[in-house]
Amino acid sequence: MKQLALLFSLVLMSLSMNAQPIFTKADTLRGSLNENRDWFDIQTYSINVTPDIATKSIQGNVIWNAKVIKKSNAIQIDLQQPLIIDQITMMVNPKNSLDFDTLPFTRDGNIALAKMKKKLSMGDVFELHIKYHGVPREAIRPPWDGGWIWKKDANGNPWISVACQGLGASVWYPCKDVQSDEPDSGASVSIKLPTQKNLKAIANGNQAWIITTDSDNATTKKADSTDYFWYVTNPINNYNIIPYIGDYVGWNEKYKGLKGNLEINYYALRQDSAKARKQFKQVPEMLKAFEHWFGPYPFYEDGFKIIQSPHLGMEHQSAIAYGNKFMNGYLGSDLSGSGWGMKWDFIIVHESGHEWFANNITTKDIADMWVHEGFTNYSETLFTEFYYGKEAGNEYSLGIRKNIRNDRPIIGHYGVNEEGSGDMYAKGASMIHNIRNSIHNDSLFRTILIGLNKDFYHQTVTTAQIENYISKKSGYDFSKVFDQYLRTIQIPEFFYSYDEKEKILTYQWKNCIAGFDQTLHFTYEGNTFDLLPTAFIPQKRLIKMNNFNPEKFGEAIKRIYYVELKYEKY
Ligand SMILES: [Zn+2]
Repeated sequence: MKQLALLFSLVLMSLSMNAQPIFTKADTLRGSLNENRDWFDIQTYSINVTPDIATKSIQGNVIWNAKVIKKSNAIQIDLQQPLIIDQITMMVNPKNSLDFDTLPFTRDGNIALAKMKKKLSMGDVFELHIKYHGVPREAIRPPWDGGWIWKKDANGNPWISVACQGLGASVWYPCKDVQSDEPDSGASVSIKLPTQKNLKAIANGNQAWIITTDSDNATTKKADSTDYFWYVTNPINNYNIIPYIGDYVGWNEKYKGLKGNLEINYYALRQDSAKARKQFKQVPEMLKAFEHWFGPYPFYEDGFKIIQSPHLGMEHQSAIAYGNKFMNGYLGSDLSGSGWGMKWDFIIVHESGHEWFANNITTKDIADMWVHEGFTNYSETLFTEFYYGKEAGNEYSLGIRKNIRNDRPIIGHYGVNEEGSGDMYAKGASMIHNIRNSIHNDSLFRTILIGLNKDFYHQTVTTAQIENYISKKSGYDFSKVFDQYLRTIQIPEFFYSYDEKEKILTYQWKNCIAGFDQTLHFTYEGNTFDLLPTAFIPQKRLIKMNNFNPEKFGEAIKRIYYVELKYEKY
């Protein structure tokens, strides 16, 4: 969900892109699994937060439940400045003892390191309680930067949420802030608010309870408060766990999907609910298209929600943030320029597409984030194709290529919490379209997409796992194609010429990595071509053909393949 930031910040990016990246100790502490992080496996997060709207501060208590997988006596807790940790307590093997140890800790920038009294060993489980408070970072341009968003709706009611992709969930709650360790059994969010008619809190998954506490105002001088408790039972990315606070109205429906009845809940601000009811009719259409292409929605147990948000949008698992102003396109414009992007609501389609790629299949390291954004960008093409036909999908896919910049490789540096180029969107999707057309078997391609979501169900993965899976299931080794498009900025150049007299087409690949072996399968003038890869680069191949028009021939390739075409007169 960072596409536009990239379009808007071309200048900044081009200033910085030539510099060698410098990574700090803090980047490594955050982005890799050191000895204070690799010894436990998070099972659940329970996040309890009381926001104070007037001072834009929060007070919280977060509980981690985790399994010990390796001996250790120190634990890293990520919590970004300027939030303050008040107390860390731990209970080991709660079934045997209910004693909490208070752990001494030190802060080092955005982490805390706490020492245990005795070494924990494999098979132990523990509960860690972290009490904290402070004024969390406020987002300036959400969702592109992160932090708390303290807004008011048009009626003057508070409208509050959080966005923290990239920046990390530790901007507002203490967690193990790395994508490789999701809480296996889910997470809960409990928000305490002053009891007010026009205020409620919503978060991911199902609502367990709402409790209103009568504070006996006369004596305590405190206002009554209400606790809203939400939870998911499935693994979830830290950055996807998000509260929404505002004057919301909700409605729901049952969707008959591939895994049975799916509960869909819609939430919009009271003032916008009529518009929302109309626009959100696209949600079941989206589910139908994506269940067709990717298999069952991956979180039936937690339901599906779409919630109007005080920013453009984000893939918050089972609680999609929606801020596209109830218009089709991307804030009313078509990112593909093909016209097809105006037929549907970009945020409903794109952010929901992430339920399969990002939320179901999550990359361990954000360097591999093309798996989230490339496939989700491609989900827009697949949605278009599902409702408007294959040619429409091709036109959408061709159109989004204009957003590719080839500034730096799609895959970033590992272990330092660094994403690769924003080309992970359009170029990632274009590469997938290339591979699909090379496979030239749409039902097999769809089986692969469904298979990815089944075989990596609720898992964290590396790009290598995804690449190998596609090669294995398609029966063709695409490793050179992946290397070319994901790890270099060279666009393969397809040189071709035609001998009128002999009626012979000659072609060769240039600007490729050694062994680049992409097959071009396409139709031109009613003839189907299979331009097989060359074993050595450069090499020429000959094909006999009649009625050759170089421009139209090139167009037939360009229509479905992201390659550079170079026609040379014979
Ligand atoms: Zn996205």
